[in-house]
Amino acid sequence: MLAGQGALTEGAFNPSLDVMDAIYFDNNATTRIAPEVFDAMVPYLTDVYGNPSSVHRIGARAGVALKDAREKVAAHLNCREAEITFTSCATESNNAAIRGVLQAAPGKRHIVTTAVEHPSVLELCKHLEGNGYDVTYVGVDGEGRLNLDALREALTQETALVSIMWSNNETGVIFPMDDIVDIVKNCGVPLHVDAVQMVAKIPIDLSKTAIDLLSLSGHKFHAPKGVGALFVRRGTRMRPFIIGGGQEKNRRSGTENVAGIVGMGRAVELGVRYLGSGVETTRRLRDRLEAGILSAIPNTNVNGALSERLPNTTLINFDGIEGEAILLLMDEEGMCASSGSACTTGALEPSHVLKAMGVPSNLAHGSIRFSLSRYTTEDEINTVLEKLPPIVERLASFTNHKRAGER
Ligand code: PLP
Repeated sequence: MLAGQGALTEGAFNPSLDVMDAIYFDNNATTRIAPEVFDAMVPYLTDVYGNPSSVHRIGARAGVALKDAREKVAAHLNCREAEITFTSCATESNNAAIRGVLQAAPGKRHIVTTAVEHPSVLELCKHLEGNGYDVTYVGVDGEGRLNLDALREALTQETALVSIMWSNNETGVIFPMDDIVDIVKNCGVPLHVDAVQMVAKIPIDLSKTAIDLLSLSGHKFHAPKGVGALFVRRGTRMRPFIIGGGQEKNRRSGTENVAGIVGMGRAVELGVRYLGSGVETTRRLRDRLEAGILSAIPNTNVNGALSERLPNTTLINFDGIEGEAILLLMDEEGMCASSGSACTTGALEPSHVLKAMGVPSNLAHGSIRFSLSRYTTEDEINTVLEKLPPIVERLASFTNHKRAGER
């Protein structure tokens, strides 16, 4: 915590503030459910409550809905329906992919990943290190770009799996997947890709790449929480992660979350419509927000600005200002954003992603992520550009007074 600003966040965030008034810039953490998605789900939360494995009409109807949703997800990714396994979230998809491939190759004890993965990959890899696996964490440069030479050098005869995210949830930096695929597949190693932040922002065509496994999560693209998917290319050797009644072609047992899956199918359809001009509108709004903040507030900069980035994300450093304090005052003014990754919010450790990029900790502590969605409006950008500068000014003067008092 920077000088004095801790006092401001001690009261913590107020859950009783009106949520209807809030404007939302935390879409990489989760998104609102699209109204069309909600409508599509309702029948499966009410009348069509059957178990999709049951043969009677109510179960069979649920089974048809499941098939329809699988077709939609497969069509969006351009893969076969049989290659899609529904899961409960991307954390499960990532765990299932990594553990499942390792179990199918018991003789190999080496994993390659990156230093900037989501905790659902990083923490699992750390856990596996404690269980006899060697893990290489490939680094990034100051702009968040992956060190491809280090990736090439990391691969050995012992490598069982490479797990690399397609785009980073904190900075939005997109990794060059074609180059990664070339390097990894030239060595014949299975490649798992966490594509959670890509879906419905950047087109994914699995018929044009040799990625073996790919994770996604419904709640990142306007479907509900509690539903995800794992693409497993035909012929990939992997063991099931959840063993039981044999659902999902024996890959992932457990009765499917039918309503959630139906919602994800509908969300994918809507996402396809948003790709193109919808995404470009979001990019324009993000660029306006970024340029507005950088010009109005001194000592600010964008992490990964020179890299290819997701069109909806910007992670901005406010030098000398505590990110949590900015967030708190923004929240009081009805603006929701995030400091670094939502999953690590609350921990005062600087973000592991910014650390890996070599960002000094005073800057990393003062970083705020704004992540937009198709629902973000011009007026909302105007509101941030009007209200944020006085907030930062107030915090800066608070710090200066405190420092002067300490002298
Ligand atoms: N991978 C990335 C890149 C993410 O951003 C997230 C969530 O923030 C996850 C995995 C985990 O997703 P879920 O919340 O569905 O478990």
